[in-house]
Amino acid sequence: MSIVNFSEIPIENTEEGISDEFELFARDFLESYGFKTIAGPDRGSDLGRDLIVEEQLEGVVNHQKFRWLVSCKHYTKSGKSVGINDENDIQDRVQTHDCQGFLGFYSTIPSNSLKRKLEGFDSIEFEIFDKERISQYLFRSADGIKLFERYLPDSFRKYNTENPRPSNIYEKEFELRCDHCGKNLLEIGDGVLAFCEEDNFVEEIYTACKGKCDRVLQNHIKEKGLSDHWDQLSNLKRPLGFLRWALKLHDHTLSKYDLNESSKKKLKSVVAGYFQQVSRNQTNQERKRDGQPSSLEAI
Ligand SMILES: [Zn+2]
Repeated sequence: MSIVNFSEIPIENTEEGISDEFELFARDFLESYGFKTIAGPDRGSDLGRDLIVEEQLEGVVNHQKFRWLVSCKHYTKSGKSVGINDENDIQDRVQTHDCQGFLGFYSTIPSNSLKRKLEGFDSIEFEIFDKERISQYLFRSADGIKLFERYLPDSFRKYNTENPRPSNIYEKEFELRCDHCGKNLLEIGDGVLAFCEEDNFVEEIYTACKGKCDRVLQNHIKEKGLSDHWDQLSNLKRPLGFLRWALKLHDHTLSKYDLNESSKKKLKSVVAGYFQQVSRNQTNQERKRDGQPSSLEAI
């Protein structure tokens, strides 16, 4: 099933396909997309159009206004496509309302026969916003996200769970740098966290990209006569992966080793940085991998 479930937008009228709320959504969507509303939506009217919107066409010399007659069809209940019989007298309706184009705004898809009919018109342009095209805009643009949250809150919640963003607990996004090249490891999503110690005293903690950066830092550590053990940072990006790491840190590492001040500070920045990434729900994939423990013992 698609991420965006348009059936969240209610069908208030008895006739399927007609919905005041869906027309308001279409108006706000098209305005957000850059059109200007000229008319509608009007409650209960049957004027052969749901909305009229205008587009400003900017040429090198000429600036023209282009008017679209908008037809909204909300067929999520049956899931049927919008066919020829659902869109009567298209050319007449466009001309009656002094428009130059026809714009179908559909929560399903247009049928092939309707598309062929529209392609056959010489005198008018057409555009179709079907469920895929609408959905793409909703989660690919900052303005679209606002509409998504407002009109389709359940879908939005699910989308957010599956596409996690760092939480807003800090004023801005925390960064955790590779101690060799300076790249933000929280953005990369992987790397190593190395504890470098001698006689159970941690002299240094570093974070680094896997591979070359880690090897360079490891060589420095060996030159200093320190030994190291390390954790994979990719595990800390998942809520339960982070918790398991934090508990291991508490139960094992911190009870076995003493840390100098700079190592304590580095460790705090790792905890703070990853906490922002994991203070959220688990995605489905994460839940399959890490489970959903029912008790402290099960973590
Ligand atoms: Zn690096």
